[in-house]
Amino acid sequence: MEVDGVVYVGRDAAVSLEASREMLQGDGSNTKEQYRTTNLVSSSVSVICVNGSAYTGSFSTALDRAIANYNNLGLSFSLKRTSGSTSGCSATITGNLTSGSAGGSSGFPSGGKPYNAINIASSTSQYGTSVLTHVITHEIGHTIGFRHSDYYNRSISCGSGGNEGASDVGAILISGTPSTATVGGSLMNSCFRSSESGNFSSTDVTALQNLY
Ligand SMILES: [Zn+2]
Repeated sequence: MEVDGVVYVGRDAAVSLEASREMLQGDGSNTKEQYRTTNLVSSSVSVICVNGSAYTGSFSTALDRAIANYNNLGLSFSLKRTSGSTSGCSATITGNLTSGSAGGSSGFPSGGKPYNAINIASSTSQYGTSVLTHVITHEIGHTIGFRHSDYYNRSISCGSGGNEGASDVGAILISGTPSTATVGGSLMNSCFRSSESGNFSSTDVTALQNLY
């Protein structure tokens, strides 16, 4: 999908031209069952800063919870909330607020760095802090290379929609994770429910610990 000259995969993850070129040089091992893009964040990235200066109230609380979701897992990188300072940051993701219907968008990694922004619709707050936490955690998931868990059939979480396809970003099975998606089975499903907890599922944790 293209909006204002930006190409999106899975409707909410932008692919820069740079990322696209890198990922076209894949190893051909892509399968139809999976979760991550060809591009990941480099192991040399130790601190990913998240500029949360635009987030107040429930957005601020949700961002803190989303950051804790990742930091609780002891991954190869940690997330550090900032108000714009880049001191000590290997890379920075800027949290933006957008208009329009509930949900968010972000993008996939390039050059070994996470995508540089998450865009969360202000209207998402109508569903409460746990859903906000879910959406922010989900969009950060794209920035470090996660595809939708039900990318091969969006109707699993969205009720309608088809196969997003591997596109040129890849859709690679993460070892130890299920190849089939279920409703509520992954924070990286395409669509969220009003009942989301904001927490990773057990297979999300497996996937994160496998990659990072
Ligand atoms: Zn998504």
